[in-house]
Amino acid sequence: MYVPSYWDYDQLFKNIDVCIIGSGIVGLNAALSLKAASPALQITVVDSGFLPYGASTRNAGFACFGSMTELLDDLQQESADQVFERVKLRWQGLLRLRAIIGDHEMEYEPLGGYEVFTPADEASFELCRNSMNEFNLRMEALTGMKQTYTVADEKIASMGLGNTKHMICNNGEGQINTGRMMSALIHKARAVGITILNGLRIYEIQSNGNSVSLACEDGFTFKAKKVLVANNGFARKLFPEMDVVPARAQVLITEPVEGLKLKGSFHYEKGYYYFRNVGNRILFGGGRNLDFETEKTTEFGLTPLIQNTLDRLLSELVAPGLKLNIAHRWSGIMGLGSSKTTILKKVNPGIFCAVRMGGMGVAIGSMIGSQAAQLVLESD
Ligand SMILES: Cc1cc2nc3c(=O)[nH]c(=O)nc-3n(C[C@H](O)[C@H](O)[C@H](O)COP(=O)(O)OP(=O)(O)OC[C@H]3O[C@@H](n4cnc5c(N)ncnc54)[C@H](O)[C@@H]3O)c2cc1C
Repeated sequence: MYVPSYWDYDQLFKNIDVCIIGSGIVGLNAALSLKAASPALQITVVDSGFLPYGASTRNAGFACFGSMTELLDDLQQESADQVFERVKLRWQGLLRLRAIIGDHEMEYEPLGGYEVFTPADEASFELCRNSMNEFNLRMEALTGMKQTYTVADEKIASMGLGNTKHMICNNGEGQINTGRMMSALIHKARAVGITILNGLRIYEIQSNGNSVSLACEDGFTFKAKKVLVANNGFARKLFPEMDVVPARAQVLITEPVEGLKLKGSFHYEKGYYYFRNVGNRILFGGGRNLDFETEKTTEFGLTPLIQNTLDRLLSELVAPGLKLNIAHRWSGIMGLGSSKTTILKKVNPGIFCAVRMGGMGVAIGSMIGSQAAQLVLESD
């Protein structure tokens, strides 16, 4: 139980115009957009972690807007308009993030994104090749870029990959340093007077006419005029009925690898596996498809099934023949659901949410944050 002092209440918990729950990419972008639109607003962002503890500081840093197998898969469930509308959102979100933070600051590198096909994936590759012209026309209309997708088989050897028969390059894809991106957002938010409070878990929010009360796990309550919930994979802790399913994603990074050829970001098996170079290290993640049920959790952690598979694929597919030592392993929690579309809406008077980033938050987070800010400003 934490009992705030009079000074705490007076300084930190009084006259809050908008309280944002979650200091990930969405919460911080929403806070920055609110402050830019209305500088006098008192904005407080609270986060249960002593650092943001969800996905924004724990992801792979792919600045990607759609690999061909992923989009073909989406087209099985949704109309072409819906699928390419989301591609547009991802593209615009990345441009926005780059404009807010700066390419140099977040070490944005336009190294291209590659989809990897093993000999067993021949049918899937053919499907992509047959759709390539149509996809390129769609992409050109959205991004202005000609030939977004190209077959890149001639680069397989120069990347040092094993067991790879084909590659398709997305020439518009890049990668960022996730840690630098989040540090820059936190710094920018504090610099414009946004308060960020860490270690504060909200377990209940309630509208009471013209204010909202927030109950903290530590046993005290405070009020804000409006609340925006931006806790993504943890949304059901506050809204048990919401169509958001937590999805854990496990990742590893190697020590620097002597002789590493790999450069760029890579997707394998419809994006269930992803790897990239981080300088001369390899970051490798995925494998959720090996055990969907166990990975539907808000608990951070690693499992032998997934980590052993990552280890095996690392030496068979990603960097065969190189001496690989694992430096670090971790996990993050994403927010998925029955649809890949974000839930951005007013939930109750004064209470709004922007959750379910569908594992694409690096790409869409800045746009969703800005749209959430607009919703908060325009609604009661
Ligand atoms: C391993 C991994 C790899 C990924 N790779 C990519 C990628 O390459 N490209 C891409 O576009 N996306 C990627 N993603 C997805 C992307 O990181 C997320 O979509 C994005 O970070 C979500 O941002 P967010 O702000 O919505 O949520 P989060 O970053 O999860 O932030 C939510 C915050 O809410 C806080 N919180 C939760 N509950 C409460 C509560 N009750 N009270 C107070 N605070 C609370 C949490 O501590 C957390 O900090 C990846 C995700 C993971 C896990």
